[in-house]
Amino acid sequence: MKKFIIKNITNSEDNPFDRQERIEWWSQEKLKKAKVMVVGAGAIGNETLKNLALLGIGNIFIVDFDTVSTSNLSRTVLFRKSDKGKKKAEVAAQRTREMSLLDDVNVDWLHGDIVWDLGSGVYQDMDIVLGCLDNIETRFHVNRQCWQVNTPWIDAGILELGVRVNFFQPPQPPCYQCTQGAAQLQAVRKRYSCDNFKKELLNEGKMPTVQVASALVSSLQVQEAVKYLCGQEVMAGQQVYYQGKLNDFDLMTAAVKSECRTAQECCYIGIYPQVKALPASSEMTLLDFLHLVSQEHYAGAGAKLSLKGEQRFFVESVNCKNCQKNIPLMRPSFRIYEQETYCQNPEDCPDFAHKKTLKKEANQDKLPPRVIYEEFSLQDTPPHLLRLTLQELGIPEYHIVSIKDGQGDYQYYALSNDQPKVLPNLSYSETNMNKK
Ligand SMILES: [Zn+2]
Ligand SMILES: [Zn+2]
Repeated sequence: MKKFIIKNITNSEDNPFDRQERIEWWSQEKLKKAKVMVVGAGAIGNETLKNLALLGIGNIFIVDFDTVSTSNLSRTVLFRKSDKGKKKAEVAAQRTREMSLLDDVNVDWLHGDIVWDLGSGVYQDMDIVLGCLDNIETRFHVNRQCWQVNTPWIDAGILELGVRVNFFQPPQPPCYQCTQGAAQLQAVRKRYSCDNFKKELLNEGKMPTVQVASALVSSLQVQEAVKYLCGQEVMAGQQVYYQGKLNDFDLMTAAVKSECRTAQECCYIGIYPQVKALPASSEMTLLDFLHLVSQEHYAGAGAKLSLKGEQRFFVESVNCKNCQKNIPLMRPSFRIYEQETYCQNPEDCPDFAHKKTLKKEANQDKLPPRVIYEEFSLQDTPPHLLRLTLQELGIPEYHIVSIKDGQGDYQYYALSNDQPKVLPNLSYSETNMNKK
């Protein structure tokens, strides 16, 4: 029979963590120091945050773009009827703080789009990322961000009474993308037009789910996270699957789809070799920023800010697909909907009556010329763009930016002056202890 080591015998009833600390390998100190990001504050995210709060996790970051609606309430332990219309991330942060048994818990949050508004510096600061998401596009993105900065992540998914948890630990394949086939990649592409503008999604799928499934999957997810944070063996690269209807339980090694090995952007491409802190902010103008990185001890003369490989680019203008008239946009690609790339007013557009037929032809033909920018430098970028801030160009706060130096080699820099803004509480705590 296994012997238990009983710690903290004195005042054990005054210690909220007494029972869990009786587990031999448990480290309450490690959990208190841990930095955990929860992406998505919906059904699974609520359960996960509740678990993290009760377990005594000391630093939690929450991100979600959505607001609370009545249909959420049957699956969201942290939300009340009176929260309707409030930001999910903000309410979840407040309730997580209230529920935490630590006197000095740090909880920060972001109300924004996970793909476009969350800087990759946040991923680098975390010990682990917990995916509580409901769509493939965001999972692909979270996977990529985690891989580039070498942060493990645990993805959770539910469908009816079925639950699934995958542990991904860079640099060890498979990553999330390895486990997805061509059909899933296709599903992500459907959210964008063929020239990379956002499509208005009329009918986003609402999945059949129930609170008990979220509670189950979150328990499995957080249990793996705790094991990892306490230095125990975890199911890296594996998937736990449970089908509640038949009580089937499986642990499997995630199958690697063969197309992954040739795909760009996958785990076979790899991790940023080094990320340096740069005393810069996304509120800087492009001009000031380029002067800074062009200094000798950064990238040096000829430095270029590159958005290549990020699926972001800056659009100065496009030509209407009906009448070819120039439409000024001056916005990052992800802030542009496909319908904005046509004349907004039918009277401006001589071919408007034939829009439907022309649209089809335009898609088959070569796309009309447009003025877009993916690289910026002091030498080649026009002055009216140099006056814009990095944020106006589409770079979020506390992002890790790619700089191409004069030799054409890439260097990676975190916009470190943004850190206290994005992580007002977490930035004061110690840096990661678990990451190798
Ligand atoms: Zn991969
Ligand atoms: Zn037009």
